[in-house]
Amino acid sequence: MNAPAPKISFVSLGCPKALVDSERILTHLRAEGYELARKHDGADVVIVNTCGFLDSAKAESLQAIGDAMAENGRVIVTGCMGAQPDEIRDKYPNLLAVTGPQAYESVVAAVHEAVPPAHDPFLDLVPPQGVKLTPRHYAYLKISEGCNNRCTFCIIPSLRGDLVSRPAGDVLREAEKLVKAGVKELLVVSQDTSAYGLDTRYAPSPWRDREVRAKFYDLSAALGELGAWVRLHYVYPYPHVDEVIPLMAEGKVLPYLDMPLQHAAPSVLKRMRRPGNQEKMLERIRHWRTLCPDLAIRSTFIVGFPGETDAEFEELLAWLKEAKLERVGCFQYEPVRGATANGLGDPVPDSVKAERQRRFMEAQQAVSLRLQKAKVGKRLPVIIDEAGPTVAKGRSKYDAPEIDGSVHVAFRRPVRAGDIVTVKIESADAYDLHGVAV
Ligand code: SF4
Repeated sequence: MNAPAPKISFVSLGCPKALVDSERILTHLRAEGYELARKHDGADVVIVNTCGFLDSAKAESLQAIGDAMAENGRVIVTGCMGAQPDEIRDKYPNLLAVTGPQAYESVVAAVHEAVPPAHDPFLDLVPPQGVKLTPRHYAYLKISEGCNNRCTFCIIPSLRGDLVSRPAGDVLREAEKLVKAGVKELLVVSQDTSAYGLDTRYAPSPWRDREVRAKFYDLSAALGELGAWVRLHYVYPYPHVDEVIPLMAEGKVLPYLDMPLQHAAPSVLKRMRRPGNQEKMLERIRHWRTLCPDLAIRSTFIVGFPGETDAEFEELLAWLKEAKLERVGCFQYEPVRGATANGLGDPVPDSVKAERQRRFMEAQQAVSLRLQKAKVGKRLPVIIDEAGPTVAKGRSKYDAPEIDGSVHVAFRRPVRAGDIVTVKIESADAYDLHGVAV
């Protein structure tokens, strides 16, 4: 008789990129015969994949480690916060191990040491596409790790290092497996998607009967051949982004661009060390829209950056009203420890930051509402995320999971999660659409 399989309890915190790391670690451990436990209590070991981007995320990570220590006591910590082990060890000296981001082998080795694997080679323990923590019909596809930019508000490069791109052939084979296993939507993620391949000088690698270069355009086009929705996230506004817009117009890649712009005042962009010509950015957006009229742009902005003046904020607000972006998030600047930006100007008082965020979101809501209302009466393809008894919840091509709005769909014939149905839109608010499956 086989010994019972060792059990792992897993906590995954942070961004979609961290989620991809968690999936990799779990896929590896499942292949070795480990099972996933639902609770910390009763698991042989707990792994906490942490996020260390903002101080609030660090606090959440420390809390999760504390909970795991209290409920189980045998805890391995990995992820972004693992790059600062002293901070964690000071608080929790009895952890089994602390490893940094991308340290899959060290996490697996620490698990082996804590509880050896009980691998049964006759059992096929892992589904061909690996273990997914996201619902089966969409999956995140990580194309690179790290970043060569040095935005002054960001400490990711110091946590995750410079850009390291995966060969295009590897990414495409993973994407193919996911699609074969039923995934309908591929969400391309990285720290800087449009820089893909810069580190390998766009080295070609074999896929199917040809070579594909590790280049943003080439990879996007090849992913577009797989028959799934392809959504591009974390696209930095380099000039060559223009090249993928025709792929969107041709329906190969979703007409959706997640492009964090962070600010619009050239003086603030300069202090942020981001590309500074927002007049040109407006022109580019206009041009993209002539090439692909239904392009949806999602972006995020920071208000209250050190030294941000009233005039700079007003410039941002005017730009926002002019640009008419479909989806926008706004964050108050948070002085992350170690970020160069903290020394670049006087801190903006919290009350001013909050007021600017409120005014920013108010302006954007008016823009969003107008753009959403223009969709009423249209028939849109919608991917179903959750099927209820009479109303299902899904998303249009213009909405990414977890960050954008939903489409609430009334239906007569039953629908299932992962189905793509045509929906006639009947009403809209600033975030969501409502309609009927036809
Ligand atoms: S591009 Fe993104 S990950 Fe890279 S330094 Fe800037 S904010 Fe950080």
